[in-house]
Amino acid sequence: MDTEAVVLRTIRFGEADVVLALLTPLGRIPAIAKGARRPRSRLGGRLQPGVRCRMSLVEGRGELATLRGASVLDAHAGLWVEGYRLRAASCVLEAALRVLPEREPGDAAYNLVVRALGLLAAAPPAAGPPRLDPLVLGAQAKLLVAAGLLPQLGSCVGCGAPGPLVGFSPRAGGACCPACAGPSGAERVDPAALAALAALVGRPLADAPGAVEPRAAGGVERLTGLVLREHLGVTLRSAAPL
Ligand SMILES: [Zn+2]
Repeated sequence: MDTEAVVLRTIRFGEADVVLALLTPLGRIPAIAKGARRPRSRLGGRLQPGVRCRMSLVEGRGELATLRGASVLDAHAGLWVEGYRLRAASCVLEAALRVLPEREPGDAAYNLVVRALGLLAAAPPAAGPPRLDPLVLGAQAKLLVAAGLLPQLGSCVGCGAPGPLVGFSPRAGGACCPACAGPSGAERVDPAALAALAALVGRPLADAPGAVEPRAAGGVERLTGLVLREHLGVTLRSAAPL
């Protein structure tokens, strides 16, 4: 099949092959590029994380599709000239790799990752660490939506009260008021982080920088991490420990 794809991860395999995690509009697809590490391979240089290509893939009997050809659509060159941008992009790629299911078609998730890479390739470095960049947090929040994991953020998950919201229970599936926080085993969270996560989900990704105050960024990362651990058993390596 011919499809657009973003390279999420590359792993050297055998003497000259590369195993790829690809994100396509048809879902996340694992593939092998045979001989891609040979000096004269036409594929090798194109298969870098974050590069968007048109790819020719052949599905076989095994788990891995075979990559027959690739032409670069957007190398996102802006990522490679700036360490900050590259690290921020790697946080988005890792989230897509860990959160999105294999071979489950989804234009929304694919377009989201493409948009995030495009914005990051042109973004000025923010004040904090790359993993807390509002574009990274916004892309990860929207990946939760794409994966059907968005928690309830605007009202208490226990009683529906609109606020104040002071706790978060990943098991119950959302924010909690003071009365429900105890019984549902919620942990205390910064209300500003809950509001920022809701704003990131509700706004276009390009508006993410205006949705997160710097002091709430760590709290947003934690909320996303709690959801991923509860529902997928996943901990992002790029994130701070929970
Ligand atoms: Zn409540």
